This record gives sequence, structure tokens and C-alpha cells, in this order.
Amino acid sequence: EPAPLDLKKYIREIPDFPKPGILFYDISTLIRSAEAWQVATGRLARLIGTWKPDLLAGIESRGFLTAAPIAQRLGTGFTMLRKPGKLPGETISLKYGLEYGEDELHIQKDAIIPGQRVVVLDDLLATGGTLAASVELLRKAGAEVVGASVLIELTALKGRDKLDVPVNSLISYD
Ligand code: IMP
Repeated sequence: EPAPLDLKKYIREIPDFPKPGILFYDISTLIRSAEAWQVATGRLARLIGTWKPDLLAGIESRGFLTAAPIAQRLGTGFTMLRKPGKLPGETISLKYGLEYGEDELHIQKDAIIPGQRVVVLDDLLATGGTLAASVELLRKAGAEVVGASVLIELTALKGRDKLDVPVNSLISYD
């Protein structure tokens, strides 16, 4: 029987990106492997399925890549959390603090049917600021947020402690 695929082998670590001193975990090398990408989305789908979501939400832009194939596997819809000026029609938005400065996410006002069970996805959980803001925004839009999922978690930053929903991840680094 073949050993289970070690997904960590498919993550590339790039020093000094996007700024000097930052080590960037790159999923490009994972998603370009047909096998690793199938395995990753399959494993995450199995975990997320236990939360019985009605809808998955992805955070621009690598969260789209993560969420959309899993939504297809689970047979749920998919909705986008986007940067300002990208979504047509009326939106609800939330500003949130970054290490330097501030960012803002939007969702279409009618994206969620009130009470829908929503799981939010991104590629990577670091400090948790992005996912915490996304959970808050989804609630403003009427969602019952039942979980948050990522491919990669940087556990030393304790981002999951910032979230009041269950979190699952596939690959972790200290
Ligand atoms: P947080 O808000 O500090 O948890 O940072 C998570 C956000 O930053 C996510 O949207 C990630 O896509 C992005 N991010 C931070 N570090 C990395 C990295 O090493 N690789 C890929 N994305 C990262």
C-alpha cells in the first residue's frame, strides 16, 4: 500500500518575499501538481463536510483557489470575499487592521441567505486577522459561520485563538 502523500513536500518556502525578512509559504508548487491538488482538496473537503455547510466563502485571491474546488466536491455554492472596488452591486464591507495600515473586505449584500451555514477558507492562517475579519463580515451579511479552513497554518502565531469558530488545517509549521 502506498504511503499517504506528504503535502508539505509540495509547499515551497521563499525567503524575503514580499519583503526582506519574511518567509513566504508558496502553494503554487502544490496546485500545479494534479495529484497533490486532488489529495489536498479531497482531505480538506472530508474535514469540512463534517460541519455540514450550505455555502463556502473564499478570501481573495488564494482563498478562491482553495474554496472553489472543495465547494464543487461537497455540492455547495461558493461566494467571494473581495478587496474594495471588485464586486458589482451593493456590498457590505469591513475594515480591519494589519501590521502596517488597514485593509478592507467586501461581500455582496445578497450573497448569503440569512442563517446559511458558511465555512470560510483561505490558503494560509498566520496571525488570524484576515480570517477573524472575514468571520465578522460574514455574520454581518447574515451567515451562521460554522468553521474556518486553510491549507497551511503557522501555529506559533496562534491565529486560531483569535477565532471563535472551529478551525482545520492540512499542513502546519511552528
Ligand atoms: P493573517 O491575517 O496574519 O492570518 O495572514 C493571513 C493572510 O496573509 C492570508 O490571506 C494569506 O494569504 C496571507 N499570507 C501571509 N503569509 C503568507 C505566506 O507565507 N504565504 C502565503 N500567504 C500568506
